[in-house]
Amino acid sequence: MTAAFGALAVVSLGLMVFGIARAVSDDPLPVAGEGGQAIEITQDDMSSLLKGHSEALTGGDKDAYLAPFKGSSAQLKAKQSSLFSNLRKVPFSVSEYQFLKIDGRAVDHYGAGASASVDVAFVHQVKGADAGPVAEWYRWTVEKKTKDADPQVTAVGPATPELAGFGEMTNYPAPWDAYDEMAVTVKPHTVILSDAAQAADARRYAPYIEKAAQDNLATWKAKGPKSGRTMPGFVVTLEKNRKVYKQMYRQGTRDEGDESIAEAGVSIQMPAVSAGGNQAKVDMENGGARIVMDTAESRFTRPDYAAGVLEISHHELAHTLVEPLTGPDGQAQLWVVEGFAEYMAMRDDPKAAARELRGLKAYYGGRFVDPFDGKLPTSDNFHSTIDEENSAHYSLGWLGIRFIAEKYGEDKALAFVAEQYKTPKGMDAQLRKATGMGMNEFQDAWADYVRKQIS
Ligand SMILES: [Zn+2]
Repeated sequence: MTAAFGALAVVSLGLMVFGIARAVSDDPLPVAGEGGQAIEITQDDMSSLLKGHSEALTGGDKDAYLAPFKGSSAQLKAKQSSLFSNLRKVPFSVSEYQFLKIDGRAVDHYGAGASASVDVAFVHQVKGADAGPVAEWYRWTVEKKTKDADPQVTAVGPATPELAGFGEMTNYPAPWDAYDEMAVTVKPHTVILSDAAQAADARRYAPYIEKAAQDNLATWKAKGPKSGRTMPGFVVTLEKNRKVYKQMYRQGTRDEGDESIAEAGVSIQMPAVSAGGNQAKVDMENGGARIVMDTAESRFTRPDYAAGVLEISHHELAHTLVEPLTGPDGQAQLWVVEGFAEYMAMRDDPKAAARELRGLKAYYGGRFVDPFDGKLPTSDNFHSTIDEENSAHYSLGWLGIRFIAEKYGEDKALAFVAEQYKTPKGMDAQLRKATGMGMNEFQDAWADYVRKQIS
C-alpha cells in the first residue's frame, strides 16, 4: 500500500435500529400570535408539504419543488434549485420525503409567527444498485408567519443525531447536496457521481470501476453462498478535493472535521428503511452503501492508473457487496471485513499481492517493530494511526481469508465471510465449518502460513 492514505476503510457509523414510521411526533408547536390566535406548525402541515415535495421531484416540477423555499434567502433557493436538478439526474426507483419529527418547543415569537426544527428523511433507492430503500436525514428550519400561511423552509442542514435519535449518522451531504452541478455516469452495475467539473475524470475511471463491479459480482455468483442477499450494484462518488471528500455523507456525525480520516476510499453503510407508507419492519439492516474514493490518491494518478483504480474499486465494492448480509448483532470482526476486501482486491492481481507481501515483510523487518506474534488483529486495535501498522493489519486479514480460500476452497472462504457478517459472535463455529479447526487451532495454522509468506 502506498504511504499516503494507505488504508482502505469501511466506515460503520454506529448501529441503528430505526424504523422511520415509528419516529412520528404528535407534538405540534403552539405559538401565541396576534389576537390570541395560536400559530402552529403541525405534523399535518409538514406531511402535506412533504407529499407535495416528493411529487414535485418525481414529476419534474421545479416550481412546485421550490415552493416551500420561496420566502427564503437567495442562497438557499439557489442551493435547492441545484439539488432538484442534481436529483433529477439520478436513476431512483424510490425517492420520497418523509416527515420524522418536530423538535422541542418553539421559541415564543409573539406576533412574529412560529418557528421550528423539523427532521426530514429523504428516503431513496438507486435503481440497480441499492438492495432496498435507504435514507438521508435533514434538519429543516420551518417558519409560519400567520395562522393560514404556508410553512416556509428557511434553512437546511444535516439532522442532529443526539436530538433526533438517528444513532450517529446523517448520510449528509450526499453528492447531490455537495455539488452545485453534479455529473452522473451510469454503467450497467455502477452509478458514478461527481462534481460536473470532474466529470471527465469520472468518465475516464468509470470503465475500471464497472469492471471491478462485474468481477466482484461474478466471483460471488460463482463461488459465494447461494442464500442471503447481496448488493446488486454500486453508487460511487469520485472526489479529488480532500476537504470535500472528508465531508461527504459525514456532516453532523462524530467523523465531521476528523483530521485523522486518512483512508483513500470508503464504503459507508446505509441502514435500510421502509418506504411508501409501508410500516412493516424492514427485514434487512443495511439496504445500501455509499462508496467515496479520493482521486488525488496515487492509485488514480499514477501512469498505470487502470490497475490502481481496479485494485481500490475491487476493495471498496467488496465491502458494499456484502453489506445486506449484515445481521442485527453489529459488525463482523474487522480482520474478516478488511481481509475479504483485500482478498477481492488482489484475487486476480498477482503484482498487487506480491507488493502487499513485500510490505508486510518490510514491516516486520523494521527496527522499531515487535516480531510477528502469530495473532489475528483484534477489532479494538485494528485501525492504527501508524500507517505501517494499519497496513500490516489489513495484510494479516487478507492472509486470513486467502489461507482459507487456498487450503479449503474459495467457496468455503466466502461462506465464512457471509456467516461472519450475519453473526459476528459465531466465529469459532464458523471457522470449524470452513476449516475443521476452531479459533485457536486456526490461528496457529494461519500464523504458520503467514510466516512462510514473509520469511
Ligand atoms: Zn476497507
